[in-house]
Amino acid sequence: LNRRLAEFGTTIFAEMSALAVATGAINLGQGFPDTDGPEEIREAAVRALRAGHGNQYPPGPGIPRLRTAIAEHQLRRYGLSFDPDTEVLVTAGATEAIAAALLALVEPGDEVVALEPYYDSYAASIALAGGRRVPVTLRPHDGAFRLDLDELRAAVTDRTRLLLLNTPHNPTGTVLTRAELTAIAELAVERDLLVVTDEVYEHLVFDDAEHLPLAAFPGMRERTVTIGSAGKTFSFTGWKVGWVTAAPALVDAVRAVKQFLTYVSSGPFQYAVAEALALPDSYFEEFRRSMLARRDILAEGLTAAGFEVFRPAGTYFVTTDIRPLGEKDGFAFCRALPERAGVVAIPNAVFYDDRQAGAPFVRFAFCKREEVLREAAGRLRRM
Ligand code: PMP
Ligand code: GLN
Repeated sequence: LNRRLAEFGTTIFAEMSALAVATGAINLGQGFPDTDGPEEIREAAVRALRAGHGNQYPPGPGIPRLRTAIAEHQLRRYGLSFDPDTEVLVTAGATEAIAAALLALVEPGDEVVALEPYYDSYAASIALAGGRRVPVTLRPHDGAFRLDLDELRAAVTDRTRLLLLNTPHNPTGTVLTRAELTAIAELAVERDLLVVTDEVYEHLVFDDAEHLPLAAFPGMRERTVTIGSAGKTFSFTGWKVGWVTAAPALVDAVRAVKQFLTYVSSGPFQYAVAEALALPDSYFEEFRRSMLARRDILAEGLTAAGFEVFRPAGTYFVTTDIRPLGEKDGFAFCRALPERAGVVAIPNAVFYDDRQAGAPFVRFAFCKREEVLREAAGRLRRM
């Protein structure tokens, strides 16, 4: 393995899912739903496949019908207007979108400011691009992990090329507020920064939180690369359909890289996702409500089991602090948990440069059936 990637071993998600399979434990580690997305959308994929739609290479930017559906979704939800021909790119999941955006926009030695804890592919993709990651740590405050805007401003230097944001935020469940996004937009304009914003959990916000796309803030439309994913919104993580929306020059840059990573992907699934994006608002609301109910089951179960719970405002993850259980090393805790309790979780330390800072935090996914969450909570309470 080359030097750029030497520090990255096997991703924690593969390691922990393998542990779940080996021990038969309930897998609340890797974030994938245990119920597939809508039947009618699965049928749409089958229809596409049978009709010979997408069985051969689809167009490089994605099929026109899907690009149009992505643009219409952005318009309908956020009032953001994108030209499907020049401002939308279909990718092999959000993962490829992240990697291609960073490879396209970062020069070796450029600094990339990212919120810490960060989704694990960010660090690896920055490294592949030869960039230097500069973490800005979200810190617990009044039951949530919050961004310190002064720390963010201080992290930007003359070498900063872009900000890599994620809202709703994996793993903390933090949703950036209008005030925070306004300040981020002002900073980006003032320092002439690009922003890559990972908004794959855009439909999963709870209570009075609201998902606000950064691209809608003043001065951001031209400098923002927004990333979405059908894996999250429609519960088809195996289909690997993601997308980028951005100004034409930025989409061109990302596509220039994407064509040599995968060229194209997910042919028949692109047809199905085009239909999924056009589902009525009631689908998205029902999906959100079902995850909200699961959040509450898991959050209450974890509280009853003695964890300190950071009740997430978004995503389908809940971060906990294990210190009230007399534990302090999330890694050791997660490695022992399948044997101890029959449950798998993710140590947040892997999402930190400063592993010590993340040591006491452990993430549980709640994109599982309610009875599975209740069973897991019961096991943790009895452990
Ligand atoms: N970004 C975040 C924040 C995620 O949580 C995930 C998936 N867990 C991804 C990107 C990757 O999405 P995809 O499966 O579409 O590649
Ligand atoms: N995004 C998922 C998570 O955070 C995992 C995706 C993956 O395994 N690469 O759990």
